[in-house]
Amino acid sequence: MAFAFTHCSGPALSLEPALYVVATPIGNLADVTLHAAQVLEAADVVLAEDTRCTRRLLDHLGLQRSLVSCHEHNEEARLAQILAKIADGKSVALVSDAGTPLISDPGYPLVRALREQGVAVHPVPGACAAVAALSVSGLPCNEFLFAGFLPAKSAARRARLRALLPEPRVLVFYEAGRRVPDLLGDVVAEGGAARQLMLMRELTKVHEEATPGVAGELLGRARAGELELRGEFVVLVAPSPDRDTGLAEARRIRDILLEEMPPSRAAKLAARITGVDRRRLYADDGADDEAGSPAE
Ligand code: SAM
Repeated sequence: MAFAFTHCSGPALSLEPALYVVATPIGNLADVTLHAAQVLEAADVVLAEDTRCTRRLLDHLGLQRSLVSCHEHNEEARLAQILAKIADGKSVALVSDAGTPLISDPGYPLVRALREQGVAVHPVPGACAAVAALSVSGLPCNEFLFAGFLPAKSAARRARLRALLPEPRVLVFYEAGRRVPDLLGDVVAEGGAARQLMLMRELTKVHEEATPGVAGELLGRARAGELELRGEFVVLVAPSPDRDTGLAEARRIRDILLEEMPPSRAAKLAARITGVDRRRLYADDGADDEAGSPAE
């Protein structure tokens, strides 16, 4: 259903010369804000990551605008042009395909350069998949760590997860559905099968779905073809369960393993079994809990 926003928004905005970073919906076009619609109507130039994608939103709003493509492969080259436009008194809007530009999307080199030159940059806030997912996850979200997309290559992805999983805050990842099983496998390997996760699929769209579970179970279901993996995902990883209990159990397991193998191997295996950070298991008692082991 098209939405003729101009019927309720009054006269077009008058925009000062600046870059306007405009958030757009992550699925449901009705999530576009009135302010976004006004800026997209009034800006002298609209920069779009994928012009076909933005055209669908403009059609929905009943706006006919010409669009200038601005994506990760040409945004540095566009910079001089955009600076000249704003210096010439023009307003420029930047949109990505979905959600908030710059958040795992193009725009950072542009905004950084404009800021360095003292040019005004204004947010036109709206949808962001990470925040939408957190807001309905039931996981603690006063603090969280947004990690965006993990590296595509397995070794790099595992290394990144190894560094992130000891975090005491919820971790937020973006991922395409077809790669979710690999991500789950790596969470099991680096954080343990018991780590609590929430898979948020196709937020605000027809097939929106939230699937909670522990990493091992979700991996099993994904491998058995029991999880719908089509579409876009936000993967939320809960902080380690009860850190002290987990640590005590991990130390107990490490101490048993120590009877059969060297300390570094025992620590590595105990970490793999329990999900406790391997570095915490090199210390030989519980005195380092908050201070961290010497390796931290
Ligand atoms: N800038 C966007 C934002 O503010 O959320 C993110 C763009 S990033 C290129 C696209 C990724 O965001 C997808 O691969 C997916 O992980 C996540 N995403 C975007 N829309 C989503 C949705 N409706 N449901 C779940 N995840 C979504």
